Amino acid sequence: ILSLRGVTKRFGGLVAVNSMDFDVREHQVMGLIGPNGSGKSTTLNLISGALKLNEGEISLRGTPISNLPAQDIARKGVSRTFQLVRMLSSMTVRENVVAGGVYGHRKRWGSEALRHADSLLERVGLSGQGGLSVGQLTYIDTKRVELARTLAGDPKVLLLDEWLAGLNPTELQIGIDLIKSLRDEGRTVILVEHVMDAIRSLCDQCVVMASGTKIAEGTPTEVLSDREVIRAYLGDDD
Ligand code: ATP
Ligand code: MG
Repeated sequence: ILSLRGVTKRFGGLVAVNSMDFDVREHQVMGLIGPNGSGKSTTLNLISGALKLNEGEISLRGTPISNLPAQDIARKGVSRTFQLVRMLSSMTVRENVVAGGVYGHRKRWGSEALRHADSLLERVGLSGQGGLSVGQLTYIDTKRVELARTLAGDPKVLLLDEWLAGLNPTELQIGIDLIKSLRDEGRTVILVEHVMDAIRSLCDQCVVMASGTKIAEGTPTEVLSDREVIRAYLGDDD
């Protein structure tokens, strides 16, 4: 459903993403993993259009999207969470979720948008909390709102940037089951993650990055036993 070819992003002299190639198949969870600073978030920023690439091409169902503004990419059904969660702090939880759908793939208006927001809040475990101000939320509940907001426009492709980070074991299991349910209803997920248990239980395929470059690709079992990957994680490569 999504493919990257020769995708390169430079920040001044730093090559943050270096000629990345990979394909994400529909209805799969693809893990994008690698040590800190390896270029994972930058790759998501390029896919979502938050950053423009220097070279290469990204396509969605065979159509190039890399030159489109971020809003158009969202409208085509690509939606994301942020590693550092960004909420509209003057709005309620429900309003934040509704706002997430404004540039979405499917638009809803008025009471339909509010009802849909409430059903998404229920799904992420926040039923009845729509009227709270986002400033009152705990860290984990903020992440839940962020996922609901990302789902508000019915995305086909979800980009999750360390969404499971910082969860306790119970919350982690709930989070993993939630992502599985998103895949099972036909969404495609790119999961940027450091939590190995989550990678093992969720990902169909993984791409491993180190210093902006793809160093391995395969099933979680394959890549996590790859010597070069282990070396990169231990820090010899970076
Ligand atoms: P982490 O696991 O810590 O989140 P990451 O794999 O997501 O790491 P990126 O955030 O993509 O890594 O960063 C890749 C490299 O690009 C890093 O060296 C980072 O400092 C640099 N970088 C990222 N964004 C910018 C920016 N806007 N301007 C300049 N350099 C940047
Ligand atoms: Mg990151």
